[in-house]
Amino acid sequence: VSIDPERSAPGPRVPPALSAVLATGSVVVLTGAGLSTESGIPDYRGPTGAARRSAPMTHQEISRDSAARQRYWARSFLGWPTIRTAEPNDGHRAVAALSAAGLLAGVITQNVDGLHRKAGSPDAIELHGSLDRVICLSCRETAPRAVLQAELAAANPSFQPRAGAIRPDGDVDLTADMVRSFQMLDCESCGGALKPDVVFFGDSVPADRVAACFAMVDSASALLVLGSSLTVYSGYRFAVRAHRLRLPIAIVNAGPTRADHLATIRWEAPLGPALTALVDNLRSPAMPRRTG
Ligand SMILES: [Zn+2]
Repeated sequence: VSIDPERSAPGPRVPPALSAVLATGSVVVLTGAGLSTESGIPDYRGPTGAARRSAPMTHQEISRDSAARQRYWARSFLGWPTIRTAEPNDGHRAVAALSAAGLLAGVITQNVDGLHRKAGSPDAIELHGSLDRVICLSCRETAPRAVLQAELAAANPSFQPRAGAIRPDGDVDLTADMVRSFQMLDCESCGGALKPDVVFFGDSVPADRVAACFAMVDSASALLVLGSSLTVYSGYRFAVRAHRLRLPIAIVNAGPTRADHLATIRWEAPLGPALTALVDNLRSPAMPRRTG
């Protein structure tokens, strides 16, 4: 028997109870920012949250304060290429593999980066929307972000921040003067103000989207939380629902979560390697990975 050297390296040890839960099938996966950090998208609410220099914009600010909106779009115009070009990582691919293997009832993500779609999970419910769409605050028409980005580029040919203002993660520091010089565009249909089609702090997730997620949890055999501290109620409520239904709740996350007291399985591990090991285990249950 020849052993692939890569395979013989010690990987994360998958808790047997976790493999057992997945093997049952009909699992709902709920993912958060921790799943995308290995793709270079920072988890501002997680362990690296202190790295963020400015507070997140609220729904009230972006919908009512035109100066705040201008600041948002100037920063976002510069930061968007980082999001657009981000690639899925092993964690996203593992979720897609579990789905392809018929083990999942569905995927709910709190992420707005579109990486589940890029990784081959087209049916993932994007709980908080997606940055690759823009919505008009007046007529609610949506449009692809790529179209607005091209129009903004044409309207701002000389918008060049000083070197260092854009950090590798896409977060941008801009002076007030720079923000004022940025030419914002309005809705082409009605002249209304535009915002990315994502749920900001202080806004709520559309009711039909929440209902679809609850229905998914209600018909599931277990809930698997990946890379989320569940700090925000919008995701935490699904753990509460699963707990009420007495479903097993497995949480794989680096660091504590708000739902740790509800979890039946708790695994602290880096998401990419951990989920790759989980998929490998499920593919060859008769041949457990070498661990030493
Ligand atoms: Zn409009």
